[in-house]
Amino acid sequence: MTHTDAVDVLQTIYGYDAFRGQQGDIIDSVISGDDALVLMPTGGGKSLCYQIPSLVRPGVGVVVSPLIALMQDQVDALRALNLNAQFINSTLDVDSVRNIEHQLRAGQVDILYVAPERLLMPATLSLLDELDVALFAIDEAHCVSAWGHDFRPEYMGLSVLSERYPDVPRIALTATADGRTREEIAKNLDLVGAKHFVSSFDRPNIRYLVREGQGSREELWRFIKAFHPEDSGIVYCLSRKKVDDTAAWLASKGRVALPYHARLSAKEREHNQNRFLREDNIIVVATIAFGMGIDKPDVRFVAHLNLPKSVEAYYQETGRAGRDGEPANAWMAYGLQDVITLRQMMQQSGADDQHKRVESHKLDAMLSLAEMTGCRRQWILNYFDEPGSQPCGNCDNCLTPPETYEGTEIAQKAMSCVYRTGQRFGVNYLIDVLLGKNSDRIHQFGHHQLSTFGIGTDVSQADWRGVFRQLIALNYLSVDLEGHGSVKLTEQARPVLRGEKSIQFRRQLATVKTSRGKSSRSKRTPIAIADTDQPLWESLRALRKELADEQGVPAYVVFTDATLADMVQKRPGSLEEMSMVSGVGDHKLERYGAEFLTAVEEFEAEIDGA
Ligand code: ADP
Ligand code: ZN
Repeated sequence: MTHTDAVDVLQTIYGYDAFRGQQGDIIDSVISGDDALVLMPTGGGKSLCYQIPSLVRPGVGVVVSPLIALMQDQVDALRALNLNAQFINSTLDVDSVRNIEHQLRAGQVDILYVAPERLLMPATLSLLDELDVALFAIDEAHCVSAWGHDFRPEYMGLSVLSERYPDVPRIALTATADGRTREEIAKNLDLVGAKHFVSSFDRPNIRYLVREGQGSREELWRFIKAFHPEDSGIVYCLSRKKVDDTAAWLASKGRVALPYHARLSAKEREHNQNRFLREDNIIVVATIAFGMGIDKPDVRFVAHLNLPKSVEAYYQETGRAGRDGEPANAWMAYGLQDVITLRQMMQQSGADDQHKRVESHKLDAMLSLAEMTGCRRQWILNYFDEPGSQPCGNCDNCLTPPETYEGTEIAQKAMSCVYRTGQRFGVNYLIDVLLGKNSDRIHQFGHHQLSTFGIGTDVSQADWRGVFRQLIALNYLSVDLEGHGSVKLTEQARPVLRGEKSIQFRRQLATVKTSRGKSSRSKRTPIAIADTDQPLWESLRALRKELADEQGVPAYVVFTDATLADMVQKRPGSLEEMSMVSGVGDHKLERYGAEFLTAVEEFEAEIDGA
C-alpha cells in the first residue's frame, strides 16, 4: 500500500502517465487511511481520487452517489478496464441484488456504487458490517449542504458512517462549494479532522465567448456550423417553447438536436439523455433541468441562448463542456430582453425579500460578467475567491479586445430623456424620442416638444439599444417590472447626470465589422486535429462508435476524445507503441489495441500510396 502501487495502477490499469494536480497527494492520503475533502472543478479528475485507493486498499470501495441514472455508465467505464464494479439501486431486481451481495461477500467486487438512501437502509448497513470496506467516497458532497443548490436530505444521514465505521477512511468530493458550503460538508459528514484539498477552479480548456444579440438562433447556427459541425453540445434556453423551437430549427439544418425539458415525459427525457450520452454528435437543447451529473467527457460546446441567472449557474452549466480537458467552447448570446425577463421572474417569484435581494445581487454579478470588457476568466476566478490570475488569452475579450467609447454624454442624453418623459416609458419609445421619430404616440404625449426630442440622431438604433441595455445591466436605470417595462433612473444615475462620473460603453458588435471578420479565424473543431489528420480522426471515431454500439456502452467508455487525439498525434506502429497512448491501459490494449492499430496503419498506407 504505497505510492508506487498507486502509480502502478494509474499506468497499467488506466494507461495514464502521471497524476494531475493534487490527485497524487489525495490518493496517498486516503490510501494511508486519512479522511479527505476534495474540491476540484468538473473534469479535474475526481474519480481517480477514490477509485485508485479503492483498488490499492484491501476491501471494496463504496461510492455514494445521488445519480442513479448514471451509475450504469460509471460501472461500464470501470468494467471496460476489467475491474469488477457494481451498483445497487432501486432499478435492480431482487435476483441481481442477491448476486451482487454474493460477490461482495466473496470479496470479488472492487468498487460498489450506491445511492445514499439505499446505503442507509438497515439491510445494506448490516451487509457492509460483514465486509472489508476500503473506503467510503461521498460524491457530489455539496448535496449535504442546505445552502447549496442540490440539497438532498438523505445526505444528512451519512454522518452515521463515521460512527459505525470509524476505521474506514472517507473522502468527500464536489465541484461546487463556496467556503460556507465547504464548512457544512465537513460538519454534516463529520469530516472535521479531514484534510482539505482545494484545487483551482479554472477550466483553462474552456473558451468563453459572450455576444450581444437577443437569443439569435442564426448566430447560434453560424457558431455551430463553423466550430462544431460534428460535435456533441448542449444549448440552454430559458423557456420550454424556445427549447422546442430551437431543437426543431437545428434539426432543419441537418443536426440531430433533441429537446429536454420538464414537460416531456420521463421516458422521452431518458431516451434523449441516453442518446446524447451514447452517440457522438448529438445536440441537446434544454432548459436548466438538463445536466446535473452529466458525466459525458466529450461535450465540445455549451451554448446559452439566454442569460443564466447567476455566475454560479453559468459556471456550472458551461463547466459541462470539455471535461476531458480538450478544448471546448462556452458561447452565450444575450440581450436587453433577458435582463428584463430575469428581473421580472425574480420579482414575481414567491421568495421572501432577503432571498430576492440575494438573487438580485447574483443577477447583477452575471450582468457585469456579460458586459465587462476585461478578461472574463480572470473576473470569474476572482468572483470565486481566486484572485491574482493573469488575463487568460482564451476568452473573447482577450482574443478580440472589445472597442469601448466614452459614453458619458450619450448616457446623459438617455437619462434625461427618461426623466423628461416622466419615467413612464419603455426602451423602444425612448429611443424613438431620441431619434426624433414623428410617431402619433410621441405627438399624443407632446414629447416632440421636449429638448431631448431628436438629440440622439448621431447614434444608430442598434447602438441605442446597446446603451440602454448597458445602463440597465449596470443599474443606472431600472425597469418597472409590473409589466409595462417603463424605465426609471436609479440613485446611481445622479452623479452621471451631474457630470461627476464618466461611463465607458462597449461598442455593439454589429457596428464593429472588423471583429466579425476576425472571429472566423479558425474553421475547425476546437480539438487540435490538423486538417491532414481529419480522415484518421474520423476513422478512429467511427471504429470507436462501432465497438461501443456492439457493447451498448457510450463511445467514451471505449476511448475518450483525448485518447483518440493522442493516438492521432503518436501514430502508433506497434502494440508496444499503442500502449504509450494516454488512456490505453493493459486491458484496453488487449481488447482494442489491434483494431485501432489496423486503422492507423490503413491510414498511413493510404498516405504512402497517394
Ligand atoms: P471529474 O469527476 O472531476 O469531473 P473525471 O474523474 O471524470 O473528472 O475525469 C475527467 C477526465 O480526465 C476523464 O476522462 C479521466 O479519465 C481523465 N483523467 C483523470 N485523471 C487523469 C490523469 N491523471 N491523466 C490523464 N487523464 C486523466
Ligand atoms: Zn481572458
